[in-house]
Amino acid sequence: MIESIFIFIAVIAITALIFGGWLVVTIIRGIIRLAMYLFDIDGQRARPMPLPGQNSATCPQANCRAPNPAGAAFCRRCGRQMPRAQRVTVRRAAMW
Ligand SMILES: [Zn+2]
Repeated sequence: MIESIFIFIAVIAITALIFGGWLVVTIIRGIIRLAMYLFDIDGQRARPMPLPGQNSATCPQANCRAPNPAGAAFCRRCGRQMPRAQRVTVRRAAMW
């Protein structure tokens, strides 16, 4: 009879420990999520920012200025070489 009471107390203690640990983890996760939201560290919102600039590149020729895809090596209209490598370097330097 006394042994069953001890087992009952032990089960309650283990349950309380597990619940307490889960509660602490949940609170810490909530604090981290709130901090990420407040300081805008969230990668899902920060990543799409540089993409729109890479989708289009304007021809460097003053009399052409044709819009070209970022991956194009030569202009679609005049056939001049696109300064793609220089633009990427400038953008990376500006980011840092
Ligand atoms: Zn062109």
